[in-house]
Amino acid sequence: MLKCDMAIDPKTGSPDLTRLPHVVIVGGGFGGLEVARGLAHKAVRVTIVDRHNFHTFLPLLYQVATAMLEPAEVAYPIRTVFGKAENVRFRHGLVSHVDHERHAVVLSDGEEIVYDHLVVATGATAAFFGIPGASQHAIPLYSLADARRLRNRLLSALEHADAVADTAPIGLNFVIVGGGPTGVETSGALSELIKTVIKRDGLKLDRTRVRVILVDQAPRLLTPFPESASAYTLRELERMGVEVEFGRSVVEVEEHAIRFADGERLRVAAVVWAAGVTAHGTLASDVQESTGPGGRVRVSPFLQIAERTDAWAVGDSAAIPSGENAFYPQLAPVAMQSGRHVAAQILRQINGKPLVPFRYKNKGIMATIGRHAAVATLPKGPTIKGTAGWLAWLGLHLWYLVGFRNKLRVMINWTWRYFDWPSGPRLIVADAETAD
Ligand SMILES: Cc1cc2nc3c(=O)[nH]c(=O)nc-3n(C[C@H](O)[C@H](O)[C@H](O)COP(=O)(O)OP(=O)(O)OC[C@H]3O[C@@H](n4cnc5c(N)ncnc54)[C@H](O)[C@@H]3O)c2cc1C
Repeated sequence: MLKCDMAIDPKTGSPDLTRLPHVVIVGGGFGGLEVARGLAHKAVRVTIVDRHNFHTFLPLLYQVATAMLEPAEVAYPIRTVFGKAENVRFRHGLVSHVDHERHAVVLSDGEEIVYDHLVVATGATAAFFGIPGASQHAIPLYSLADARRLRNRLLSALEHADAVADTAPIGLNFVIVGGGPTGVETSGALSELIKTVIKRDGLKLDRTRVRVILVDQAPRLLTPFPESASAYTLRELERMGVEVEFGRSVVEVEEHAIRFADGERLRVAAVVWAAGVTAHGTLASDVQESTGPGGRVRVSPFLQIAERTDAWAVGDSAAIPSGENAFYPQLAPVAMQSGRHVAAQILRQINGKPLVPFRYKNKGIMATIGRHAAVATLPKGPTIKGTAGWLAWLGLHLWYLVGFRNKLRVMINWTWRYFDWPSGPRLIVADAETAD
């Protein structure tokens, strides 16, 4: 039952949801879920629309791609999250555009959902910077489907190398583009996967001929972190057998090759695209006449979409001002805090109270490199490296992972791997290349 003071249908004695203000949240990611959590059991009617019927825990996608975790362990049905909240419903569908004049979101199947308040929480997508062939041949990591596709590609390449090992031993190159947290985490995990398939699965691979190459234009890894963290990360990756190349620009990606600005063309088994994100091409670029930086929606300090009082944006889709011409980074904590803030502001506005500007509480940033190796930088505090950083990373990710069953399964998986027991879903699911 709803705990709030709510309109009651006199005939049935049940809450009459149709008389309540309708909040439509597009996107059930970190930001959208927090908006809905803040409005659950309150005197509003909430509809979450998402093209997937599950929430995806994006920070662990690389573990699905490298066969450490199952897809179902990092995803959770949105309906289940709000099973007990009568005022929250879920609609599975893709929103194709927003009609501000008619106060409606329009779905790709033609249905229109009318709102009193709209929240855009559609996140971002991979940025390919117009590099020829990149969007066709490189694999980004932005959805569960991407992670499954990458896992299939990696495992298939390793199996093929084993299959021909006796007749024609081949060299294998895996290139990861982008030395941010996703690129670092994926290259470390891929290196561990290769070690595992050789040691545990007995694949006939010459480790010295299987190259994991991490390339970046920048002169160091993990640029938002202090230089000492970058230097530590480089040492750890190299210790794990990852080749790190700085100052390298990709100019083209072909089906089985990558070309660099210096003219080198390298044959590859897979290219992982971790070079950056954009909101161009997402719903965010449709809700305003001119988009903000990176295609994001410009919002006021209250997180209202500029010049509108009934539309809000949160998380990666929003350019949230942090100062003059400065914006908060596209990170999960920003998405969650902005989601909570918008829920509170909608309730304040409905109740005739003044709005409060958004203030981000910076809790630091972290990235993992491999077993016992991670970096965590606390705001105004030290950078924690090694096992302590790794344990902090594990704890935090477990805490924020949605669903008790998922937490338990991931914890068991990680414990299993910690003791170096053979584990992991190293399965090539045949139809996943095309499945979404
Ligand atoms: C691989 C990877 C690793 C990351 N690691 C970290 C990390 O370690 N730490 C950290 O702080 N941040 C990390 N991030 C960033 C973090 O995940 C994002 O900042 C966060 O997910 C943003 O939340 P959001 O709600 O704005 O968007 P998302 O979580 O992306 O959710 C957007 C939702 O909108 C839905 N959607 C989009 N368009 C439509 C549409 N038109 N119609 C219907 N539904 C739609 C999507 O299906 C999705 O469910 C990582 C991101 C990636 C991709």
